[in-house]
Amino acid sequence: MKRNSSIHQNILELIGETPMIKLNKITKDLDGEFLVKFEGYNPGHSTKDRIALYIIEKAEEQGILKPGNTIIETTSGNTGFSLAMVSISKGYECILAVSSKSSKDKIDMLKAMGAKVYVCPANVSADDPRSYYQVAKRLHSETANSVYINQYFNQLNIDAHYATTGPEIWEQTGGKITHLVAASGTGGTISGTARYLKEHNPNIKILGVDAFGSILKKFHETGEFDSKEIYPYRIEGLGKNLIPTATNFEIIDKFEKVTDEDSAHRAREIALTEGIFAGYTSGAVMQAVMQYAEAGEFTKDSRVVVIFPDHGSRYMSKIYSDDWMREQGFFDSQKQEQAAIEFI
Ligand code: PMP
Repeated sequence: MKRNSSIHQNILELIGETPMIKLNKITKDLDGEFLVKFEGYNPGHSTKDRIALYIIEKAEEQGILKPGNTIIETTSGNTGFSLAMVSISKGYECILAVSSKSSKDKIDMLKAMGAKVYVCPANVSADDPRSYYQVAKRLHSETANSVYINQYFNQLNIDAHYATTGPEIWEQTGGKITHLVAASGTGGTISGTARYLKEHNPNIKILGVDAFGSILKKFHETGEFDSKEIYPYRIEGLGKNLIPTATNFEIIDKFEKVTDEDSAHRAREIALTEGIFAGYTSGAVMQAVMQYAEAGEFTKDSRVVVIFPDHGSRYMSKIYSDDWMREQGFFDSQKQEQAAIEFI
């Protein structure tokens, strides 16, 4: 449905069909044209609206989910908010096990959308009974008529982006696209979008973004899981300490790793140069674009689509808080603090 062309029957009709925006300033020194697919434009403010709606509607079609049933998930926050939104609109209960790394804003938002939230420690292994995976599994087994979305291991996560994000990008660019740059968490976004794009043009390069502290890049390059690579980091929703089956590693050409600090500054720079208020992983993706450019990945003829997964309003107590940036030591080596302080 065309945005704003008529009255929408419910909030869910506004999911998808997100805008594509040309970057004009932040990439001015780079070769190529850079186009942002801004997923913060979804009604739930992130790309996760797409998978929440898609997976729930597939379960409905298969008769697995009936009104009044319960939806359970582990989530860094965005998937939870989207599931809560879809659940409210469609009349389901929503139970979420979230990581303690998630921002307070995100947790409050889940509650505001009617979800029951269990906050679980972030830095325990996936098989620890306190981990959000194990808590979600337990709740699923204890709750009659519940559906566990299991986004990291659910192929429908990939299919949602194959059915929506991929075709939208193909249509918006008129098929003129040389590279896709996308963050990888569950891997659903990059894998599903890439599958559609490569089916239409196998020459399109798929460039992934991973975090230092996560093992996706190493696993992609060596096929090995190296737990020595794992350590805590700040960026929410990017990278992983396990191998998600919702990631199709074969379709991804390369990964680039980014730091918490570079990504935070880059998100702030996107706002200050382009007026696009995007989330932490959007900063990570933009940082990766810079690193890929530095490594000679793009030419003057490149037309690069960059996915910004969510909206900046989710991070007011994090990357858009000067206090938080200072606590992390992110201002120590940078000059950016000056402007913020002088104009208060
Ligand atoms: N950015 C944010 C803010 C996210 O919440 C997620 C989802 N974990 C991603 C990026 C990565 O998307 P995907 O799970 O589809 O790989």
